[in-house]
Amino acid sequence: MALWKCQICNFIFEGPAPPDNCPKCGAPKEKFSQLSEQEALSVQKSRRTNYLHMKALTLLHELLAISEEIIKEDLDPPCIKLANSEKEFAQITIQKIKAELESHMKKGKWG
Ligand SMILES: [Zn+2]
Repeated sequence: MALWKCQICNFIFEGPAPPDNCPKCGAPKEKFSQLSEQEALSVQKSRRTNYLHMKALTLLHELLAISEEIIKEDLDPPCIKLANSEKEFAQITIQKIKAELESHMKKGKWG
């Protein structure tokens, strides 16, 4: 399946031909150009990577909730210390992933 890129808003359309109008910005189909095989491959890679980062985000949010639950149980200091480091890891990594995904979107890699 060919990939078509809107030259106005960078929307990427997948299909045998470009759409009559861009679903995102409404530009006519003349504004679409077909991506080369190389470009199409990098869009697919980028989509896959974004999808995997989103999956990691889901897991980290789960870890965050679990660590907070452990802290609430208040068993003993080593347990709380460990839970705090789990919580900190989750929070920092969530921020890093969000920043990375935002930079993908700014580069027009978000497809
Ligand atoms: Zn567009």
